[in-house]
Amino acid sequence: MRIPCPFCGPRSVSEFTYEGDATVVRPPLDADPDTWFAAVYERTNPRGSHQEIWHHIQGCRSFLRVSRDTATHAIQGAAMIAPEGADE
Ligand SMILES: [Zn+2]
Repeated sequence: MRIPCPFCGPRSVSEFTYEGDATVVRPPLDADPDTWFAAVYERTNPRGSHQEIWHHIQGCRSFLRVSRDTATHAIQGAAMIAPEGADE
């Protein structure tokens, strides 16, 4: 599998580290423990197109949002995740 890094071009997946599901929405800090448990530990196992966070740890060290089909491993695209406050 090759991930198209916006800065480095297509690179082997061995250069990246999977950082998790990009669709998880964190609850407010004052949410009850059950809500936090669900946000941290409970995940769906989707088949098909999915949004994921990947870290180009052995390249430019960017965090990327990657659209990947979990059934075929086909990558539909990748974009850099801007640091918080970068677009202010
Ligand atoms: Zn890169």
